Amino acid sequence: MNKLKILIFCTFLIITNSFGQAEGEYNSPYNCSNLNSFLYNENITQVESLVYEVFPNGGVMIDPEIMENGTTVEDIFGAMGVEENTSFQFVNETPSRLEENKFFRRYEQLFNSVKVNGGGYTEVLYRGTDTGPGGGPCDELAMISPYIIDEPNIPTTPNILESDILDILPSPVVRAESELLISHNLDNECEFILTWKVIYFDGVSSKVSWIDAQNGEIIKTKDATVNLFAPMENVDAYGAEQDLDDRFDAATGKTFLESSDDSDFNIKILDIPPSGPCLTNPLDEDLWDDSFVPSTSNPEFWEDEATPITYQTFFLASTVLPLFKDELGIEFNNVNIAVDENSDTDCLNSEAILDPTLDNAFIRMGLFGPPGDLQHMSVIDMLSHELAHCYLFRHIEYDFDKMGPKSIHEGIADIIGEYIE
Ligand SMILES: [Zn+2]
Repeated sequence: MNKLKILIFCTFLIITNSFGQAEGEYNSPYNCSNLNSFLYNENITQVESLVYEVFPNGGVMIDPEIMENGTTVEDIFGAMGVEENTSFQFVNETPSRLEENKFFRRYEQLFNSVKVNGGGYTEVLYRGTDTGPGGGPCDELAMISPYIIDEPNIPTTPNILESDILDILPSPVVRAESELLISHNLDNECEFILTWKVIYFDGVSSKVSWIDAQNGEIIKTKDATVNLFAPMENVDAYGAEQDLDDRFDAATGKTFLESSDDSDFNIKILDIPPSGPCLTNPLDEDLWDDSFVPSTSNPEFWEDEATPITYQTFFLASTVLPLFKDELGIEFNNVNIAVDENSDTDCLNSEAILDPTLDNAFIRMGLFGPPGDLQHMSVIDMLSHELAHCYLFRHIEYDFDKMGPKSIHEGIADIIGEYIE
């Protein structure tokens, strides 16, 4: 990292605008007015009076003083306009990857006891040390992230029964799992439909079909092996979501943050939690463990299985590797990238890991910047700079104690990084 690189980093937002939305027809559910509608109507005033702050995405920060005066979570939902036929069901509790005492509780939304696809909310809590009224620890609610869909004006009793589904699907079907859902935005038009969502295997591949639960029409079928959309960290440069070249594993039904089986490249992304190991030089392959590769069971979207910077790193690596090959004739076999969000001094910065086998590139992308304003270095020129080191290792020795080879390495890696960008 030198002054030039910092300058490039700062101007990166301005000069990189060539990546648009991957698919023009796709309409993000966040554009639907039936999602978190309290943000756009008169309810917002009432919500604001009950919480510390309302964020533009609908998240609300809880004010402990207001809660002490008897306000409940139900009061906040009431102020948001949540009506009586809507209820919420506990799904799971997960610890924060960033803070030890922080954890999340996810609830899904039901309307007349039918699941509203994607609807619900997540609570952000801190584990209390004292004891609450029920005898358990007195946990403190810090935030609510709602993803609440307005009550749909559609009947919720299906004409089509679950037992009718196999007759509707094209045969053969080896196995199928179905779930009754209220979908919103299935056709990218923010509309409500009572649907059977069916995941099935036809002997060759896994598919997902959505069947209109009133008239039995198959609305949409997707090969479950198609790539998934993922949120991007830098929305200005890359758009809110990108379609990733990720890998669907038919055996587990999960999608992994690795290159798809029919890709020309073999990228693997490791999401290293802040408490995880620093994957620095020298290479310790045992630490580059596959358990750090994020996976999801969702057939359409990556959600919070990893952070947006992790998805973005995969997207950028998939973008630059064809350029290395076509423009420079540099072809990598396996590219392993650790996305490190650790702010410990030892883990800051990015580096290429010296690899003795020459078949694999190992790079670690970390945070960098002045204290209090750390930025993640997963941007095109820096990612390309580190990949360039991996190529140069084959030709020029990198010795931390020898200024000559080190300068040549850094100089050429900078040139390649900027050329790729
Ligand atoms: Zn370097």
